[in-house]
Amino acid sequence: MNYDFLVIGGGSAGFNAARLAHSLGQRVAIVDGAKRLGGLCILHGCMPSKTLLYMTEVLHLAQKAKTFGLKIPSASADMKAMHARKRRIIGEFADYRTQAMESGKYDIYRSLARFIDPHTVALADGRQLQAKKILIATGAKISSPPLPGLAETPFWTSDDILDLDHVPESVIVLGGGIVACELAQFLHRIGSRVTLIQRSANILRDHSPAASEVIQQAFRDEGIDLHTDTKIEKISSTPNGVAVRFLSKGKVVTRRARHLFNALGRAPNTQGLALENAGVKLDVDGRIRTNRFQQTTARHIYAGGDVCGPFDIVHLAVAQGELAARHAFGKPCKPIDHKLLLNVVFTDPPLATIGQTEADLTAQKTPFLVASYPFNDHGKSILMDANYGYVKIIAAPKTGRILGAEIVGPQAGELIHCFSGPLAMKATVRDMLKAPWYHPTLAEIFTYPLEELSDQL
Ligand SMILES: Cc1cc2nc3c(=O)[nH]c(=O)nc-3n(C[C@H](O)[C@H](O)[C@H](O)COP(=O)(O)OP(=O)(O)OC[C@H]3O[C@@H](n4cnc5c(N)ncnc54)[C@H](O)[C@@H]3O)c2cc1C
Repeated sequence: MNYDFLVIGGGSAGFNAARLAHSLGQRVAIVDGAKRLGGLCILHGCMPSKTLLYMTEVLHLAQKAKTFGLKIPSASADMKAMHARKRRIIGEFADYRTQAMESGKYDIYRSLARFIDPHTVALADGRQLQAKKILIATGAKISSPPLPGLAETPFWTSDDILDLDHVPESVIVLGGGIVACELAQFLHRIGSRVTLIQRSANILRDHSPAASEVIQQAFRDEGIDLHTDTKIEKISSTPNGVAVRFLSKGKVVTRRARHLFNALGRAPNTQGLALENAGVKLDVDGRIRTNRFQQTTARHIYAGGDVCGPFDIVHLAVAQGELAARHAFGKPCKPIDHKLLLNVVFTDPPLATIGQTEADLTAQKTPFLVASYPFNDHGKSILMDANYGYVKIIAAPKTGRILGAEIVGPQAGELIHCFSGPLAMKATVRDMLKAPWYHPTLAEIFTYPLEELSDQL
């Protein structure tokens, strides 16, 4: 079969690239080897995790009822019901996506794909597909770093946690990235005893230490047994589960639990694609190397999403897929502007950032102004008893142009979007101060740092 555009992997990047290429009048095929169509975000990533996290946020509020003068005698997780609700919601999303994929706009091949040559891909049943342009969007898979004993010890992955229909008695979480933190708090809130062990000095190490420290404090206050700055010496099975021995602050510490959750990261899914037959090269970190238009080292082959990175974030996977399709078929397009990078961690309190960080700007020796304001001094957050965290705004010293923002605190994932438009439109501090801010809202907290920045200009 001959196609204009062949997409390998029908997740967020692949499906959206296919959709766009079809709208440009191209003949498109999607090859996906998964048992179920939908991709990571719908089936095992964003959507199931956020469904469960929202349920535990409601649970947490119910358990705090007394704080609000309410009588809710007991609130606890009914995991069977939570599991069923999550399955129903995810099932609907997946069905909707499957219908879109099977709408007849694209030819769908349910198979793994492997390159034979730069324009030809073989399916598991021996059929071969040829295409003028190809997109690799095969995502990423769980990775297991060579920690002593990890390979020999049974562990859960995020897929297992997201599929739980009971409350595990105790879990040790290895890792302190976004998935580790979000799901550690989920486990803790449903009633598991949770220990989180992180190698670096702070959890969420890609974020500012100040932001991480707020989440660490919240985790510790909630009762999560959190260990940072550690070195794992041995992971082993025990008659009742697992044990992890690690160095922490010069001492040897051992923690035991029923289950181990490996949340140490993901690696690009390139195995089995025979990329060498296509002339597609990898970067040192194993991701597919691409240029600003998502072209790989074989220029008619593109890559998008987690398989090339640099960030494992859905809206970027979508944008990369669409960019690849537009570029492949000669439509006007611009590279993705990483100065608009938007990131949300769905812990409670959540953490969200947009644009450039203080660390980025300091490293680039770019001067900047910064102002922040704490949620424990703001009317709306006080009445919500949501006192952790702060908002921070970064601006250019001469022009006052907004360069970035960081929020740790209530609704951070929603509030950060107050900056999406202004950043994209290159707005200044004074432009944002001209905007109306309703009282009493969480969003009006931004007026304090904006005014402070305006005074500094
Ligand atoms: C627990 C968890 C929570 C997350 N939460 C968020 C969040 O809240 N927000 C956010 O922005 N991001 C989140 N992410 C990340 C996000 O899910 C990913 O960045 C995104 O889904 C990646 O999309 P993709 O198109 O690159 O890959 P995928 O959606 O993984 O699609 C890859 C597809 O390729 C197929 N495939 C693989 N190999 C082959 C082959 N050889 N031949 C044919 N088909 C193949 C697979 O079957 C799969 O369908 C989360 C991730 C996890 C694990």
